[in-house]
Amino acid sequence: MWQIRESTAKSVLTPVSGFLKEAGFTHSLSPARNCTYGCTYCYVPTMGIYGGLHPEDWTHWGQFTTLKTNAAELAQQGLRPEQVIYCSPLVDPYQPAERERPVMPEILEAVIRKPPQIFVIQTRGPLILRDLALLVETAKFTKLRISFSVTTDRDEVRRRYEPRCESNEERLAAIQELREAGLEVYATLAPLLPCNPERLAQMAIEASSRNLIGDPLHVRGTKPRGATTRALSFEIARRYDETEWFFPDFQEQILRRIESVAHKAGYEFASGTRGFGWLAKK
Ligand code: SF4
Repeated sequence: MWQIRESTAKSVLTPVSGFLKEAGFTHSLSPARNCTYGCTYCYVPTMGIYGGLHPEDWTHWGQFTTLKTNAAELAQQGLRPEQVIYCSPLVDPYQPAERERPVMPEILEAVIRKPPQIFVIQTRGPLILRDLALLVETAKFTKLRISFSVTTDRDEVRRRYEPRCESNEERLAAIQELREAGLEVYATLAPLLPCNPERLAQMAIEASSRNLIGDPLHVRGTKPRGATTRALSFEIARRYDETEWFFPDFQEQILRRIESVAHKAGYEFASGTRGFGWLAKK
């Protein structure tokens, strides 16, 4: 199904630019190249060499991952107290391969030894619960935030667009468990796949008891440059008559409907750099 490869990297911490910089981050930390979740809409392979990828990564996205075996050592060398780190824009740190070959525990231990100002984990993997005790320990040393991606309330949609990802019910249960352990965890509705937006927002608020972050599928109409949605997901949308989820006007209506649910429950909802900026807030 997928392979694990290994390499020694020159760096794992990279100064950020563009979206992440605007949101308030200073660095990203990527423990691997290529992601074994292999989502059909993933933006990363569209970045090509600008995402630090090799051609085989974008032609065989999700079919293998290359773990940086010296990631923890490099993190330990590069971590600084003023950094605001996003882990990771290029791979899910709790991707399926992480179950077989763990990299994150050692990285978290490096974060504990040399804590940055803020350390954000972006994931959709309930596997993060394996490291719960270590995460609780990490949060004593740095401002640890977890942004947990939930994409739809309809499991048949999840199976179409992200078949290797766990069900959204499992993901919501993981959010709740992380919250109950005292961790700062956000439900991040991104990318928004075909769903009942009111139901999705309600479920996400119940799990996280926190403001909601979201982002529609990126499209060239609203994002002329940089990473964008893989063509494969658009083909799926066409097959299932769901292409409106790629149209900016329709996406805007969905965002407003989610916002309305959040406001009624006493929370905020934001997308783009404003939403992701909450993760980087000092
Ligand atoms: S989990 Fe994230 S990085 Fe991995 S394939 Fe899916 S969208 Fe891409």
